Amino acid sequence: ASGAPLVLNVTDVEKNFGGLKALNNINLQIEEGKTHAIIGPNGAGKSTLLNVCIGRIPPDRGVVEFDGVPLTGMAPHEINQIGVVRVFQTPEIFPDLSLLHNVMIPALSKREGAFRFNPFRSLAREHEIRDDAEHVLADMNLLEKKDLEAGNLSRGDKRRLELAMGLVQRPRLLLLDEPTAGMSRHDTNRTIDLLKRIKERGMTKVIIEHDMHVVFSLADHITVLAQGTIIAEGTPDQVRGNPKVQEAYLGG
Ligand code: ADP
Ligand code: MG
Repeated sequence: ASGAPLVLNVTDVEKNFGGLKALNNINLQIEEGKTHAIIGPNGAGKSTLLNVCIGRIPPDRGVVEFDGVPLTGMAPHEINQIGVVRVFQTPEIFPDLSLLHNVMIPALSKREGAFRFNPFRSLAREHEIRDDAEHVLADMNLLEKKDLEAGNLSRGDKRRLELAMGLVQRPRLLLLDEPTAGMSRHDTNRTIDLLKRIKERGMTKVIIEHDMHVVFSLADHITVLAQGTIIAEGTPDQVRGNPKVQEAYLGG
């Protein structure tokens, strides 16, 4: 630990689905500015853990603290409002709208609050929000496509659009569930470069990822889950050589 402030502090979290222990005694600390990867075979509990961190799934036991504040009892939209943003595993874009409008919507709801949305006040700020959205689209190399319908994008461009929709909210903590799933090697490498650019700006991130190339290119710290339990953690070098990790992957 470098002594940077903790953005996320997960303590003794447990989650059961019926008789299945999806998460068992999970402890996780994420320091400001770090990129933390959560890896593990299918069914390990990675998405469940992410859902616990964004308030979608309340844990049966344990506490998740964000900037020192327990998220217990907070609704997902409230957790989003204080800066926890998740980019979903399944694309959640508005296929009939332009890229620009897709990015303007989360920018608007972030400023106005999802449940205090006032279209008249919002119109006055449209200019500012449009600027913000175009800036983020440029960042994701999508500006030249801003007027296209989002539904017509390639798979890789859709994922980058989702990333733009997350980034425009200026998250304090960005959670990415398999950001390169279904991408070609070329698109994956482009996305790694974009995520590195975000990292240089000091944004704190949690990445769930199957692709080891992505994990080892980006992560400062790795937590390995298998069957709901943390079986290893450490720097990429520490995790790479861990026989338990190799066993979980080969045996899983
Ligand atoms: P991962 O993302 O690592 O592949 P998940 O967190 O999606 O794993 O799932 C962990 C385990 O919990 C799996 O066995 C999965 O079938 C189960 N699970 C996940 N969500 C639910 C749910 N809503 N109801 C019942 N079982 C679930
Ligand atoms: Mg998953």
